[in-house]
Amino acid sequence: MTGYVSGEQPQETGWVKLNTNENPYPPSPHVAEAVQKVVSSCRVNVYPDALATPFRNAIGKQFNIDPDWVLPANGSDENLTILMRTFVDEGESIASPYPSYILYETLAKLQNATFERLQLDANWSFQSDRDQQIIDRCKLLFLPNPNSPSGTLWKEEEFLPLVPPCGLLILDGAYADFCDEPIGFEVLHSQKGKQIVITRTLSKSYSLAGIRFGYAVAHPDLIAGMRKVKDSYNCDLLSMTAAVAAIEDHEWMVTNSNKIRKTRSSLTTALRELGFHVLDSQANFVWITHATKQHQHIYEQLKTKKILVRYMVYPHAEMTSPEPLEGLRITVGTDEQITQLLDALREII
Ligand code: PMP
Repeated sequence: MTGYVSGEQPQETGWVKLNTNENPYPPSPHVAEAVQKVVSSCRVNVYPDALATPFRNAIGKQFNIDPDWVLPANGSDENLTILMRTFVDEGESIASPYPSYILYETLAKLQNATFERLQLDANWSFQSDRDQQIIDRCKLLFLPNPNSPSGTLWKEEEFLPLVPPCGLLILDGAYADFCDEPIGFEVLHSQKGKQIVITRTLSKSYSLAGIRFGYAVAHPDLIAGMRKVKDSYNCDLLSMTAAVAAIEDHEWMVTNSNKIRKTRSSLTTALRELGFHVLDSQANFVWITHATKQHQHIYEQLKTKKILVRYMVYPHAEMTSPEPLEGLRITVGTDEQITQLLDALREII
């Protein structure tokens, strides 16, 4: 099999990095303070709390959730793996919209599960009637909301019918904090709530991609199963300390998210003026295509100017069939970074 290929991560400085949806702003200053305190105390000779209880309590307090509903993990990706290992046996089916986050398919292969695509139409919407049989047989249906690479958001009335009758709907909320109307956890208390798991990450909105921290929220019966599968100490002390400090400074995250939403709006307008087709995004990135289909060329030209965006190809997309879908996914950076990007694009176009 081919493994999942992450976006490029050049380690030297000087890049305008708009390829992996990181936050261009630093995390709350409380993060460094808290981590430094723990480093000075040198308490790293003992294992951390196996259930990352201080983090579960912080989430509980911030969002009014019982800590028993929370499973912290080493990034959201770890929770996706844990979900797969907990709930899917070899040969069973998992599904996700297509185009969407490619990792779900890789995880299905690793589990020897069958991966089925819910092909999105040209409006990036479901064709639920056609796909009902897939929904009926899958154990897990992964739904990033907002979706990647489109940045589009599904409403509750669109995604609740997707809850598999004998399985779980995984609402991957990696980008939920960038929506114009922030998404909460209320859906877990709806009629189908016991069959829904919400995953969140601190990588994007909390500016902590480098420390790796995410969490899942679901009914405690589901969380109890997932705990059996996770590594004993899946969250280390330093990461957890950083994560707690970030969650407690909610205002900092909201301020940065508001800045990003403002830049997203001006970026969308400017790209349209340049002749790109740009989807309205509710995430911290935009998906753009150009009638010339010179996406790879534009990506390469930008790279020569040390500007990295993500060139993506979806070979199985029915919405463009028989052609593959391709385009560029651009992370919303600071206003300065976006000015640099737009200047470069003007030259290239
Ligand atoms: N879900 C989606 C839809 C993502 O785009 C990403 C980031 N690649 C993740 C989950 C993983 O986030 P984390 O950094 O927490 O592993």
